[in-house]
Amino acid sequence: MPYATQPTASHFINGQYVEDTAGDAIPVIYPATGAEIARVHAGTPSIVDQALAAAKAAQPAWAALTPRDRGRILTRAAQIIRERNHDLSVLETYDTGKPLQETLVADATSAADALEYFGGLAGTLTGEHIPLGEDWVYTVREALGVCVGIGAWNYPTQIACWKAAPALACGNTMVFKPSETTPLCALKIAEIMIEAGAPAGVFNVVQGMGETGAQLVTDPRVAKVSLTGSVPTGKRVYSAAASHMKHVTMELGGKSPLIIFDDADIDNAVGGAINGNFYSTGQVCSNGTRVFVHKAIKQQFLDRMKDRLANAVIGDPLNEATSFGPMVSERQLDIVMGYIEKGQSEGATLVTGGKRIDGNGFYIEPTVFADVTDDMTIAREEIFGPVLSVLDFEDEEEVIARANDTEFGLSAGVFTRDLARAHRVIARLEAGTCFINSYNDAPVEAPFGGVKASGVGRENSKAAIEHYSQLKTVYVRMGDVEAPF
Ligand code: NDP
Repeated sequence: MPYATQPTASHFINGQYVEDTAGDAIPVIYPATGAEIARVHAGTPSIVDQALAAAKAAQPAWAALTPRDRGRILTRAAQIIRERNHDLSVLETYDTGKPLQETLVADATSAADALEYFGGLAGTLTGEHIPLGEDWVYTVREALGVCVGIGAWNYPTQIACWKAAPALACGNTMVFKPSETTPLCALKIAEIMIEAGAPAGVFNVVQGMGETGAQLVTDPRVAKVSLTGSVPTGKRVYSAAASHMKHVTMELGGKSPLIIFDDADIDNAVGGAINGNFYSTGQVCSNGTRVFVHKAIKQQFLDRMKDRLANAVIGDPLNEATSFGPMVSERQLDIVMGYIEKGQSEGATLVTGGKRIDGNGFYIEPTVFADVTDDMTIAREEIFGPVLSVLDFEDEEEVIARANDTEFGLSAGVFTRDLARAHRVIARLEAGTCFINSYNDAPVEAPFGGVKASGVGRENSKAAIEHYSQLKTVYVRMGDVEAPF
């Protein structure tokens, strides 16, 4: 691999790199060229066992540290990540194909934000005192134990830290399994955690495919599973975890509505739709892929969108001028091309894009469809690629009903200059993470997650603490015990 500080083995367990070549080989493909740049091995049952044993052994002492001591370690990890942002961003670009222009500002930096935020929060986590006359109750906020994190391939560094930061702040330890498509970045985070002072075993990384994930999810040593992935995988993992009564957080897919009223600032609305459909080459779960545009401004919107897309710089992701990179894999490219063909065959109007770009990399043109109707496949299924669908509407009631007519409920956005309307509409949209005159901002201070099939629980913000800790209730009687006999 043309990168000096790549991870040196497949797994990171109990404070060190571990290799086991008995596991299936997983080639790491650089999406911009199709070349194999590294190779890791899936975790064998013995590797999974070692990782869980290390996490289990490390957890009591980690939970026994003062929360501020845990927080200081997370904050130090954040500092190291920021110092190495450039190197980590280059690695993220190799892992995912996302342009360096993006990875420099949205990946390792977002991981550092999470570690800093939850590192700072650690010292504030307390129970409460509940007076009951003479008697009283106090609650203790306890760690859950060993947590398993399972990641998707679109934000490998960010996902690892969005899960690890709150988990570790609360005194849990973690075994993280990255997506097999992007196995490299989480290993560097594990290295940095040790450098920052985390004891061995607190954060471990195991590679593997679905079976490795399934083994982690069902192990009795595991108290909680947090998955970022698709709805079908989420259903499988949720039910496997439920049969062992484990806690879960599910960050799953979406088909989110972005509603643009006729009084919207058109350039801002087009900018929001670009951020919500083409950033990370459209591989973002919260994307507003059903863009409902008021009929009165539809043509103006499409013309502006076409003009702005012509400015996309498509090419070498390592060139900082590039603003639009390849799909993460040939498989994902084929899936997206299949949806583009479906869009055309079902009668949507192709406004721009629609073709694979020649060469060895997995490039697709940014694609816009107009005249999309609610029943078309491209309006119903998550595509997870750079395909924006414009649906016409005229009436507020009508668009709210159509926006909600989906199994998903991750995100939703509204563009309008009428703020009363903006709040009225957002209040009725069935989505967990919403935007007014913006799209896809995800600051660590704000809860992130979905409703309906898009997920369970919340990541980021103080809300995440509820999902990585449990309350012990202690009733204290000050007087004598009264008993019936
Ligand atoms: P998948 O659902 O295919 O995989 C997610 C992870 O789960 C991978 O690490 C995968 O391993 C693992 N996995 C697969 N089967 C099992 C199983 N039975 N038990 C345990 N783990 C398993 O998603 P993708 O990686 O393809 O990611 C894209 C999806 O993620 C999209 O649908 C997107 O919407 C969603 N997503 C959601 C986000 C959110 O926060 N809501 C954010 C980003 C993405 P492997 O890949 O090795 O097979």
